[in-house]
Amino acid sequence: DAHMYLFVRVARLGARYVLLVAEDRTESYRLDSVRRDFVANISHELKTPIGAVGLLAEALSSASDDPEQVRKFAKRLTKEAERLARITQEIIELSRLQAADALSKPDLVDIDDVVSLAIDQNHVVAEAENIQLVRGGDKHVRVFGDEALLVVALHNLIANAIQYSPQNSRVGIGVNCTDGVVEIAVTDQGIGIPEEERERVFERFFRVDPARSRHTGGSGLGLSIVKHVVQNHGGDVRVWSQPGRGSTFTIRLPEATGASALTLGAEL
Ligand code: ADP
Repeated sequence: DAHMYLFVRVARLGARYVLLVAEDRTESYRLDSVRRDFVANISHELKTPIGAVGLLAEALSSASDDPEQVRKFAKRLTKEAERLARITQEIIELSRLQAADALSKPDLVDIDDVVSLAIDQNHVVAEAENIQLVRGGDKHVRVFGDEALLVVALHNLIANAIQYSPQNSRVGIGVNCTDGVVEIAVTDQGIGIPEEERERVFERFFRVDPARSRHTGGSGLGLSIVKHVVQNHGGDVRVWSQPGRGSTFTIRLPEATGASALTLGAEL
């Protein structure tokens, strides 16, 4: 919201003067409310898989003399447990990112390495769907930041591109550096995102339609993590999409220069 929270202290200085100290607490109020929402969302999101694990465990013990049923319930139990583990991991990651407004100690990062690592991590899944990961654009572009976090961000974009694309399609990963701005674009030929949902996909736990995905089990946290990583790097992330044709997610970061080092607090 657009409110500003001022904390004002008043002190008398002798008979003629009053000292007013105003402190802007807007940011700390904002963070408090972000934290409250986050905890409410987490409780809601965890209730479903935890409930499912409980029910499946019960079903498993009452089906003990039917091996076919046991196998079926055990398989679903494993799936729910995996989903729970993934959501927990993402929640931890996101709360760590939210707690840190800025990077503690930015390094000089080569975007080539970020792209290679993120592609490697998605290679097997892409191959299973016969989706080609095509890489292109500028080489040896550098930014200040945290390589591991940037890999997580790009990994999430590539993983989504694969997840929401048909088999035998292509996902492009392109790097462009112009006028001190580094752009990393991930383009797919997938189902796209309806216009009215486009900005909301970056919200925590938001999913356009849980039934759309080929593999169920997303948490709706992936893009929220991308947004936080990129913001912590002084950049932004945008989406362009045409339903039925595909989407492009673009991460923009300041190129590594003396000035960007200063704003991010990097040691030169
Ligand atoms: P999830 O774990 O559900 O993928 P994300 O935060 O990564 O969570 O994405 C939020 C939602 O945005 C997804 O549920 C999906 O509906 C939509 N989305 C994200 N990336 C794409 C994409 N490349 N193509 C189509 N829809 C996407």
